[in-house]
Amino acid sequence: MDGIERYRVRTGQIIRLDEWDPDETALFDGSKKEGKALLPALNQRLEALQELLWAQHTHKLLIVLQAMDTGGKDSTIRHVFEGVNPQGVKVHSFGVPTPEELAHDFLWRIHQCTPGSGEIAIFNRSHYEDVLVVRVHELAPPQVWERRYAHINAFEQMLTDEGTTICKFFLHISKDEQKKQLQERLDDPSKRWKFRKQDLEDRRLWPAYQAAYEDVLTRTSTDAAPWYIVPANRRWYRNLVVSQVLIDTLDSLRMHYPQPEEDLAGIVVE
Ligand code: ADP
Repeated sequence: MDGIERYRVRTGQIIRLDEWDPDETALFDGSKKEGKALLPALNQRLEALQELLWAQHTHKLLIVLQAMDTGGKDSTIRHVFEGVNPQGVKVHSFGVPTPEELAHDFLWRIHQCTPGSGEIAIFNRSHYEDVLVVRVHELAPPQVWERRYAHINAFEQMLTDEGTTICKFFLHISKDEQKKQLQERLDDPSKRWKFRKQDLEDRRLWPAYQAAYEDVLTRTSTDAAPWYIVPANRRWYRNLVVSQVLIDTLDSLRMHYPQPEEDLAGIVVE
């Protein structure tokens, strides 16, 4: 998919989410069926790149996934990483902080989950909740969350300086799409367990969340750790975009398999 950069937020770019269409499929002009058929090849490519990352054991990749409720974080992880060797890939979900986590600074629980050499860490929610839900639900006063943008940028800069590559995705759905998904959760007995009354409360706060996301995207997309705004109403397209960004990012690391310790050319296995 050429042109994937259109979804990348440039440093300093001011984001207004109503200018970003969650329905668009601009980089692919085929049917949903044709679009879905492209994913397995991308899965294979990602699998090969992850193997290389693991073998070389030099780079580390941190993927941040944020979205409104029902935005598709879980399903993106399932589809984009299908076939990838679970060794070396860890998913971390960040929920309401525990008392112990709350007794520390907001990055304490996050830092422990960042990837080591050769690893991919996927954050299902992240430190960004500390300027999203915390701001919208007024869990901390403005002077506390306001200074966190700078702390987040400094933290991510430190991680990249120390060898971590960071990709951050905002899965952008419309309010109507969320309605559809929430109703599906209520109607389908196998999905009902995912429904939380809190989701309705958050839905009422949709405009405040969109404003909080706009600030996150505007203030924390950096060269070191860029945000991508992924049109996510069409799940097949969302999967293609996230996969392609990850492939391009890993490709740009120009990885290679490590050299064997000695010249193995003459060795024959009996
Ligand atoms: P998900 O909705 O991601 O599938 P859950 O249903 O477990 O997962 O929801 C996690 C909840 O934890 C969300 O409502 C989210 O806003 C909340 N949460 C995450 N981080 C924080 C935080 N730092 N402070 C308060 N709430 C948080």
